[in-house]
Amino acid sequence: SASKTIGLIPADGIGREVIPAAKQVLEALAPSGKPFSFIELDAGFEHFQKTGTALPQETVERLKGECDGALFGAVSSPSHRVAGYSSPIVALRKHLDLYANVRPVASVPGSTGAGSRPVDMLIIRENTECLYIKQERIEADTSPEASPGDQIAWADRRISTRASRRCGRMAFKMAVARHAATAAASGLSNVPSPKLTVVHKSNVLSITDGVWRETVKAVQAEDPSFAAVKVEEQLVDSMVYRMFREPEAFDVVVAPNLYGDILSDGAAALVGSLGLVPSANVGDHFAVGEPVHGSAPDIAGQDKANPIAAIRSAALLLENMGMAQEAQRIYQAVNAVLLEGKLLTPDLGGKATTTEVTDAVCRRL
Ligand code: NAD
Ligand code: MN
Repeated sequence: SASKTIGLIPADGIGREVIPAAKQVLEALAPSGKPFSFIELDAGFEHFQKTGTALPQETVERLKGECDGALFGAVSSPSHRVAGYSSPIVALRKHLDLYANVRPVASVPGSTGAGSRPVDMLIIRENTECLYIKQERIEADTSPEASPGDQIAWADRRISTRASRRCGRMAFKMAVARHAATAAASGLSNVPSPKLTVVHKSNVLSITDGVWRETVKAVQAEDPSFAAVKVEEQLVDSMVYRMFREPEAFDVVVAPNLYGDILSDGAAALVGSLGLVPSANVGDHFAVGEPVHGSAPDIAGQDKANPIAAIRSAALLLENMGMAQEAQRIYQAVNAVLLEGKLLTPDLGGKATTTEVTDAVCRRL
């Protein structure tokens, strides 16, 4: 096949440091004489402040028309509502129909990161609805008990059968594929069955989370290959507790948008840093790699950001573009640098810069 074109959207804060790092690694990888080509694209809060638009039409059009996949850095969100601004990554997920966000959280083989136990799970977050539809409104509180000026804020939460079903399908497929990959890598025939944990809170939100839970579980009957998956349910609060107590109990985890967002930041603590955890926004035809972390204004512009989440996001993107071997080379180079432990950024207790860690990964390729 022809060389691949990757759209790069650094956006804000440390996105402008970690996306060039990921690009450098992709350039160093140069798959058998077919280098990637890159298209730099604008988006973000800083772009909004300059131009009045957070996600230019041109960015969306060139992604759709010219790119095989993309990498997104991070966006800053103002802490208060700014007229006319809304998150470009949320909009991009919608424009490109990237309906699942896939977040592998794994400690480096042979080490246990921050925790005392090995972690190896895949969190799949529904990416298009739930509270993130942002249907919010505010009204005056006219109840007799209210004080003058009191308000009531509302948010609608949308859970549809269609979005739950396609996200559930992605989760079952990935549980089966992950199991096959583990079995092939270990050479053993008795690798434990794939497991899928369906996260919800249907004891309280029986209608919305009820639709989520029943729809995701019903997907198992769609395909004979899904039959081997062991399905369990977990209420989101006890999920947090169990995830911290016994992270090794989890394999693939599927959750509605908000719960998945929160769970994956929490899971990042189990492997040592948000700066390590990648994600990919995935649809049926396109994927956008994106580190789980935000724009980290506290460390931006200082060459301190850990580039590994972005570098692993590039690998995850390649996996989703059918380049699994190239992805493995990146994962192995990153693991070698982490295991050696000499060049670590400050979030992992080291003194190395973004540049030094990136160069070290490139040398290991
Ligand atoms: P954050 O992820 O930016 O930072 C949380 C903490 O982790 C900070 O102390 C930061 O320094 C550290 N950190 C994050 N990534 C790191 C890295 N690669 N290397 C080293 N340390 C790292 O979350 P926040 O501080 O809550 O949010 C900052 C901004 O980012 C906000 O405007 C928020 O809205 C936005 N945000 C964007 C996304 C996204 O683009 N998907 C996600 C989360 C937050
Ligand atoms: Mn988040």
